[in-house]
Amino acid sequence: MFLGPGPARPAPMKDMTMTNWSPRTKAVHAGTRRSQYGEVAEAIYLTQGFVYDTAEAAEARFIETGADEYIYARYGNPTVRMFEDRIAALEGTEDAFATASGMAAVNGALCGLLKAGDHVVSARALFGSCLYILEELLPRYGVKVTFVDGTDLDAWRDAVREDTKAVFLETVANPTLEVVDLKAVAEIAHAQDAVVIVDNVFATPVFGHAVRDGADVVVYSATKHIDGQGRCLGGVICGTTEFVRKVAEPYLKHTGGALSPFNAWVMLKGLETVHLRCGAQAETALKLATALEGHPKLAHVAYPHLPSHPQYDAAKRQMDQGGTVIALDIKGGKAEAFRFLNALQIVTISNNLGDSKSLVTHPATTTHQRLTPEQRYQLGISDGLVRLSVGLEDCEDVLADVKAALDVI
Ligand SMILES: *Cc1c(COP(=O)(O)O)cnc(C)c1O
Repeated sequence: MFLGPGPARPAPMKDMTMTNWSPRTKAVHAGTRRSQYGEVAEAIYLTQGFVYDTAEAAEARFIETGADEYIYARYGNPTVRMFEDRIAALEGTEDAFATASGMAAVNGALCGLLKAGDHVVSARALFGSCLYILEELLPRYGVKVTFVDGTDLDAWRDAVREDTKAVFLETVANPTLEVVDLKAVAEIAHAQDAVVIVDNVFATPVFGHAVRDGADVVVYSATKHIDGQGRCLGGVICGTTEFVRKVAEPYLKHTGGALSPFNAWVMLKGLETVHLRCGAQAETALKLATALEGHPKLAHVAYPHLPSHPQYDAAKRQMDQGGTVIALDIKGGKAEAFRFLNALQIVTISNNLGDSKSLVTHPATTTHQRLTPEQRYQLGISDGLVRLSVGLEDCEDVLADVKAALDVI
């Protein structure tokens, strides 16, 4: 016997007043739905299915599913819905669809939209699995993809054509941290009615303003800063209700990219602290980058908010802080980079990022191992390049650790 939703409780906090809330308030409250028990912390609805009072009610829900009604957890779930509403409020989009991982989000946004014969223009400097989708998978299904140097606006102008359906880019590229001028690229794309799809992981939902700068669809790996403590995989596609519900959702709900309710709960709680964590991590990252620039063992230090960064102006315009990742090019190539990694005491060797623990990786031999040396050269991934994801440890401790490891070289 279904006992019904119980007495009326505060409605989902998705109303007009919410638009006046600042991002930090939205990150704590937006999207909250309470059960009849009036719990403070969001409930985990760890259920695959939902019951109907009558056969007629089941029929009605399959004809038209109401705003807060559910059928099956692959289609939607109340905890997942809370996360979707909260991140959409934060991002400034009408809606969002949560996915099992960041890659499910990238794949869902692209495959939901594209069909054989469509043309896509993409920045070349991409996260390895994003590159796989654009370079290998989409062409297999007849989608034509043109790659450009994301920082070269003339290249975007040449590549975007009348029949271009979408452009894809990472606002800050992994692992080189090159910054794409999103506003300029969006203008070029919109002149041809192309959909601007942005992977905004490195800019984070805290520092980046992708929608303000012209993105139509913003994709996150929630695995990174949104969880922020290295626990769960997750992802999300933010966009208009039209894109999210008519383009992305049909593809994702039928192909199985749904986020688990438990992981959605971890991401919801992660959002509550995302501003504090990312702010502190970026502050440390800027201090580290500034202190390490010019170090005799380093050929180069890259960080979007260092004045020496080649796209410093664009980075300052589109990001409130420079992000939580810095790239160090260690003189002496792989051998010296490995010596540096192995000498670190606090900073841990791992290929993840956005964690509260500082993590370091050597892209040429791990995340970008699949590429040929020529491709790595094109992307600026040298054998000495090390990516440092800055965590929440004390800044002076991390700096001392990095300096001591550089001394070992
Ligand atoms: C990690 C990452 C992804 C993929 O996210 P997963 O959650 O690991 O699937 C996509 N894009 C960027 C830029 C990333 O850093």
